[in-house]
Amino acid sequence: MPVESMSDLPRQNCITRFAPSPNGPLHLGHALSALLNADMARKIHGRFLLRIEDIDQTRCTPQFEQGIYDDLSWLGLSWEQPVRRQSEHFDDYRSALEKLVAMDLAYPAFLTRGEVKAVVKATEATGMPWPRDPDGAPHYPDIDKQRTTAERQDRLAANAPFAWRLDMQKAISTLQGPLLWEEYGSGQHQSVQADPAQWGDVVLSRSDAPSSYHLSVVIDDALQGITDVVRGMDLYHATAIHRLLQQLLDLPAPNYHHHRLILGDDGRKLSKSEGSTGLAALRAMGKTPSDIHRLIGL
Ligand code: GLU
Repeated sequence: MPVESMSDLPRQNCITRFAPSPNGPLHLGHALSALLNADMARKIHGRFLLRIEDIDQTRCTPQFEQGIYDDLSWLGLSWEQPVRRQSEHFDDYRSALEKLVAMDLAYPAFLTRGEVKAVVKATEATGMPWPRDPDGAPHYPDIDKQRTTAERQDRLAANAPFAWRLDMQKAISTLQGPLLWEEYGSGQHQSVQADPAQWGDVVLSRSDAPSSYHLSVVIDDALQGITDVVRGMDLYHATAIHRLLQQLLDLPAPNYHHHRLILGDDGRKLSKSEGSTGLAALRAMGKTPSDIHRLIGL
């Protein structure tokens, strides 16, 4: 049963959400996600929410946000008001971060990107592999975790910029039992064993962004009572981090439906910079909402 037909399940009180970041124009992949979310809610008399994930204030703009409203309305979608905009809720994410810090599961990470790169390069030059996460990014080195309290205090007192990172091994060691998530996207219900260790010490907040995607998404899904997260396969592996954070922060776990991705002519996942698959560009070319449904195979 593909994710498209999950909406036939007789489930009550479902709440879905489409959660785009206004850092570029929406494309066909976003249209698929938004339509599947709305469809699931509509077919079983649930609720469909739109959430604007604009924590990265350096890349998100009011123009792209307006573009999201225009594109979704053009597709015929409607959503509940008020729309939750993450930039208006930094306090919620900050208090979750404070909990993790108080549990001694987060630490200040001072290394710059360049310093991380240099450590990785030096290790790989000796023939030793460096662990990488499912997106191919190198794990964060242990250096900051091994600093003495005095060393840490000195850096903080000197106002050195830092990010809060999750101490992944320590966080995993607090778990009482197996960490699972309920996956419906493959067509059948499956309990998936989550493996957050493969991500290393993920970022929880940065000096220039008070929350990370991972932290804010689990807080918002819980606060908004989301029962079903319907999103692209590109976030399948990140679900392990989300389940871990939910467990640490005592938050409920929604069901997950990771759907197929729309690929470009080159066989790769669409990116926001590809104008030809942008919804506004397609609209300007004279395409209709039914053309969009056909293009994404709905
Ligand atoms: N904001 C994320 C994105 O733009 C999606 C988050 C989610 O659906 O969990 O891709």
